[in-house]
Amino acid sequence: MRIMCCLKPVPKPGSVKVDPETHTLKREESELVLNPYDRYALEAAVELAEKTNGKVVAVSMAPPNAKDILLEAFAFGADELVLLSDRAFAGADTLATSYTLACAAKKLGPFDLIVCGKVSVDGETAQVGPELAAWLGLPSVTWVKDIKPLNDSLELIRTREFGEEKIKAKPPLVITIEHEANVPRPPSIKRLLKQDEVEVKILSAGDIGAKEEYLGLNGSPTQVIDTFAPEYHGKREIISGPPEEVSERLLSILKERGLI
Ligand SMILES: Cc1cc2nc3c(=O)[nH]c(=O)nc-3n(C[C@H](O)[C@H](O)[C@H](O)COP(=O)(O)OP(=O)(O)OC[C@H]3O[C@@H](n4cnc5c(N)ncnc54)[C@H](O)[C@@H]3O)c2cc1C
Repeated sequence: MRIMCCLKPVPKPGSVKVDPETHTLKREESELVLNPYDRYALEAAVELAEKTNGKVVAVSMAPPNAKDILLEAFAFGADELVLLSDRAFAGADTLATSYTLACAAKKLGPFDLIVCGKVSVDGETAQVGPELAAWLGLPSVTWVKDIKPLNDSLELIRTREFGEEKIKAKPPLVITIEHEANVPRPPSIKRLLKQDEVEVKILSAGDIGAKEEYLGLNGSPTQVIDTFAPEYHGKREIISGPPEEVSERLLSILKERGLI
């Protein structure tokens, strides 16, 4: 199977900076780490490639400083590394991000499977996987916790709030991976030693044949108009008096607030 695995570099907690004019994240100034959920996506992709004698192409859309994240992905088992990096991608919302990844999938494909993490820990929308499927006209299965290759199709177990679903799906398709799906392997020493020889292919908007009007801030129907820390209006009431009165008052407060 030829598998594309989408890996999102996210700002390391505590290193996030916001542009006060545009209210967008200054990703190129933040220290980046791999989105934790994407470790499970990568492991699922690598395990499946191993079972099917396939290849994993790891793809990130991010500023140039994300190259190290892709080298990390090589140590975890990815075969090819691609960084989509261009000023034109800046300020992308989920629609523009998924469009860019879809253009890359068309350029680098065909792929039997596209694997994404369940959600990112910074944007947290979980929209990119299904949107990517929509741009490519492919089916998508989200929240996958188990994958078995079955002749020409895949048997997928999908988690739900109240149980699990077993789905049989024929590639090509897009899936998003749950953190229960596997236990990610440690980096391979052999691969760590080869990191200097590995190429991270850097592709621009032109290289992937993307249309300018769908990219970055221009191609984003949702834009951040302001960012602010939430104000906390905590109320405090000290209840004092004999135990019966205190417990009665406490009971009425809990009832008023619908807590009991
Ligand atoms: C209204 C709005 C405005 C935004 N404006 C900006 C902005 O101005 N500037 C800015 O920098 N960001 C902006 N963002 C954040 C930006 O949309 C997200 O970084 C990006 O679209 C991914 O969405 P997400 O983080 O919710 O990913 P999710 O959908 O939660 O991620 C799911 C999976 O998709 C894949 N994935 C997601 N993003 C990437 C990626 N870049 N490369 C490879 N794989 C990926 C990963 O496998 C990930 O696990 C904005 C978001 C919103 C909702």
